[in-house]
Amino acid sequence: MPVESALAQLAALQNLDRQMREKMEQLETLRARLNEWRARLDTRRQSVSALREELQSLDGKRRELERRLSEEDAKMRDRRMRLQRIRNEREVQALQREIELGKQANQQLESDLLQVLEALEQLQAQLKAAEEDQKALENEFREDSARHEKELDELAQDVERIRRERDRLAAAIDANLLRRYEQIFERREGLAVVEIQEPICTGCHMNLSPQFFIELQRGDEIRLCPNCHRILYFRVDRGGRDA
Ligand SMILES: [Zn+2]
Repeated sequence: MPVESALAQLAALQNLDRQMREKMEQLETLRARLNEWRARLDTRRQSVSALREELQSLDGKRRELERRLSEEDAKMRDRRMRLQRIRNEREVQALQREIELGKQANQQLESDLLQVLEALEQLQAQLKAAEEDQKALENEFREDSARHEKELDELAQDVERIRRERDRLAAAIDANLLRRYEQIFERREGLAVVEIQEPICTGCHMNLSPQFFIELQRGDEIRLCPNCHRILYFRVDRGGRDA
């Protein structure tokens, strides 16, 4: 195959490879964005369920305190009734002491309960805010995810279409040349073939010697830029095509 046609094929291949690379990058970006979104949603769901658990355990504490308070109340009523019945002075004193201690215990329980109730109120407000946050993000996500899924689908189809076209084109190219091109494409950030019209490599902007440029224009063999090792393509028909 003449060098000119081989290079034209390589340039067409590179065009597809660059399109594919761009689509893949878009795909990656979109996937990353969706993943990031899911992670944010997960974090919010976790904090909501953590708050719910905390609330539950604190509510258990509240019930326990209320149970103990009502027990203490019953004991206290019992003591007061006993106090009216007994006449023995020592027993009266002992019971009064018991009542005094019971009052202290009650006060402690009441103050503990108050603290728990206040904490419960705070937690409930926190939970409500967290649930609203979660709902807002879920709504946002629902609306956008349908659009993103569609975009992902379209991109994946584009990639598939380009890949098929690329494979068909690649099959017609000499295997050694193809391998060399692919290596350069990988190493040189997706630019392996550079079209030039002047003795300057547009890949790395190095000036090419007049002798080198004359040989290149002759098109007897495939030449690489001496500096960046990209494949140089002097396009004979350039003047005639739409740029
Ligand atoms: Zn170069």
